[in-house]
Amino acid sequence: MAMSEYRSGVPDDWFVDPVNLGVPGVRQPEVEENPLAWQADSLCAQTDPEAFFPEKGGSTRDAKRICTSCEVKAQCLDYALANDERFGIWGGLSERERRKLRKRAG
Ligand code: SF4
Repeated sequence: MAMSEYRSGVPDDWFVDPVNLGVPGVRQPEVEENPLAWQADSLCAQTDPEAFFPEKGGSTRDAKRICTSCEVKAQCLDYALANDERFGIWGGLSERERRKLRKRAG
């Protein structure tokens, strides 16, 4: 990735407001319509989001370890691929790993 494309830090619109989502695991019908509804069960929403958007060259190990036990890993990865999310760890994969996956897919 070119340096100019690189953005560090957590995007302002990334983090989920737990108040809007309600109790984890208990979904309201209207939340089901939300393409990001799966984030109600995401482990990263309960941990340090900084780990998921490391500085360039920073370690992604902690984030990936959290993803391993996340219940919505598949939805998370699908969402990231469908929306061409370029930054951060999604579904246990780094930006580079997702790029490779996209290439392989087509
Ligand atoms: S798979 Fe990882 S990045 Fe995705 S929601 Fe779960 S913990 Fe967060």
